[in-house]
Amino acid sequence: MYLAKTWSTGITMSHLNVQLLLTGDELMTGDILDTNSMAVADALMPLGLVLSRKVVVGDALPQLVSEIESITKQADVLIVNGGLGPTIDDLTAEALAAVIGQPIQEHPQAMAELQAWCERRNYPLNGPNKKQAMLPRGVEIVSNQTGSAPGFKVSHNDCIIVCTPGVPSELAVMLESGIAPLLTELLSTLFGESYTQIKKFQVFGVGESPVQRILAENYPQWPDDIELGFRAAFPMLEVKLTAHSKNGIKLLPEWQSKVEDQLAGHIVAQGNVSLPEALVTLLSDQKKTLALAESCTGGLIASKLTSVAGSSQVFDAGIVSYSNEIKHKVLGVSQATLAEHGAVSEHVVLEMAEGVLALSQSDYAIAVSGVAGPGGGTPDKPVGTCWVAWGKKGALKTKCLFFPAERELFQQYIATAALDLIRRDLLSIDAEPLYFSRSK
Ligand code: ATP
Repeated sequence: MYLAKTWSTGITMSHLNVQLLLTGDELMTGDILDTNSMAVADALMPLGLVLSRKVVVGDALPQLVSEIESITKQADVLIVNGGLGPTIDDLTAEALAAVIGQPIQEHPQAMAELQAWCERRNYPLNGPNKKQAMLPRGVEIVSNQTGSAPGFKVSHNDCIIVCTPGVPSELAVMLESGIAPLLTELLSTLFGESYTQIKKFQVFGVGESPVQRILAENYPQWPDDIELGFRAAFPMLEVKLTAHSKNGIKLLPEWQSKVEDQLAGHIVAQGNVSLPEALVTLLSDQKKTLALAESCTGGLIASKLTSVAGSSQVFDAGIVSYSNEIKHKVLGVSQATLAEHGAVSEHVVLEMAEGVLALSQSDYAIAVSGVAGPGGGTPDKPVGTCWVAWGKKGALKTKCLFFPAERELFQQYIATAALDLIRRDLLSIDAEPLYFSRSK
């Protein structure tokens, strides 16, 4: 019988001891930022698992061998990330072969998957590529649906070792399609029914501490069986309820409704749905289209929208009207308005929105014009000032936002706020984001 090497992380109790070994010189030299640990930790969370430990090593065979051997003695599951590729610095298969004492040989399934991958892309299968199908004898393949290097797994020292690709997009697919099901099966074999359930809310307009305060004031008897968690990914906030017990799972729907009651219109979406995704769905459900006239955000609002598959159904046009000349020539903002009120003004954003509505014949528009800084501020319009106009023809609304922050953060905030304003408009939500309290 396989025994879980249960482990407390200090954060929470995890049923399994899962460890992560990241490989690659580029992680040690700072050439790339390790985002894969975040993806792995994120994939474990819904299963009620937390990484017990993570280790990063360069492309050095002796270190890899010794870390794999030592981690397998402590952990139930070891996820090795990176080093599956075709180049000489990709050493994972070799290290694993040394640890389990098996020779490297061509793996028929790995070769077949590699050949199919090459055929789909019309690539010749060359020598270095073939290296990706040379694996330690006895490993099982964990398919890589998006990349050429197959993942693989094997058991050693009562620990399941799963080797995964370093390329983040390939890892993401494998975590969902290969590793989460494997861990779910392992958990159910060991413990039977699962007692972890998570409910996530994506929130805009209210920060972590106000949420905590609102919930504490309204519900002082918060149940121990439901953990309240936050992940701030400014300007969005993720609010998470986690049930870790049978009783917690029973209570979850009731507490989910309580959170919904309190955060109401600030909840943009549930689960992992983003604000642009929620907005595209909303526009599509209401059969409405949107156009944009952007100045200080430089196309960021359009970029956020077009990152959503299916946005072409609801997004007609985005004009980056950075100069006054283009605001006038393309959007029809009058020279007199520009001269009298300046580019960052209520009058100008209104005319920008009207201009893009006329140009695109869309149902809704957003227009933004602001002072992103660091230069260009005046006592009247300091850095961080931004006028927004949004809504539909004949019913445009305006607001002056104030967010004095570093340029990129300012743009992110304005773009997100603009999308959220249209969302609230489409849903007839009167409440404004609490973040706006500093605005005029
Ligand atoms: P390949 O087939 O491309 O060689 P691989 O499985 O061998 O893939 P690596 O060579 O280790 O993986 O990494 C490939 C690329 O993935 C790296 O150049 C880097 O851009 C990215 N990458 C690797 N590890 C991480 C990480 N921990 N976080 C973010 N990106 C990573």
